[in-house]
Amino acid sequence: MDIEQIKGLIRDIPDFPEPGIVFKDITPVLADPIAFSTITDLIVVRFGRGNVDKVVGIEARGFIIASPVAYHFGAGFVPIRKHGKLPSATVGEDYELEYGTATLELHVDGINPGERVLIVDDVLATGGTAKAAASLVQQVGGKVCGIATVIELDFLHGRDRLVEHELYTLIHY
Ligand code: AMP
Repeated sequence: MDIEQIKGLIRDIPDFPEPGIVFKDITPVLADPIAFSTITDLIVVRFGRGNVDKVVGIEARGFIIASPVAYHFGAGFVPIRKHGKLPSATVGEDYELEYGTATLELHVDGINPGERVLIVDDVLATGGTAKAAASLVQQVGGKVCGIATVIELDFLHGRDRLVEHELYTLIHY
């Protein structure tokens, strides 16, 4: 299965979760066994087994993609969640939403100093979420070895905010 075939599975949902947003629904990609394993394999091959100690998934769809990627690396999985969801001691980072700000959190002991960390999410839009995630990893001493998303919305130029990081995205709009 090639990238164009996987792209054909992604559904546009207009005005979700709010008017004016075209939501990129990846659930048909996840439900297709070949498509799901292909996106997993592409990310693993791009960064290479033996090069990643921890895979960070961003709540909530990032968890689904990060988990099989971590398994194939033989790496640990670590969640980044919205404020108040993680049970133990956390570090937090505020980031900008379209209206206002939100906070992402990471367990302080989720990553050991010096560990090589890959950050995984479903969609790169403005890049604010990925940038906050990278900052959290760095706050606890992790080394961000890359950021991988299934989709990049090129017209929002999120990539420009992440120039210091190795960014790998599979499908472009
Ligand atoms: P941003 O911080 O603007 O890069 O937004 C990225 C985060 O918001 C990711 O966690 C995505 O899951 C979600 N997101 C942003 N825009 C979309 C979209 N059009 N479709 C689906 N998810 C989106």
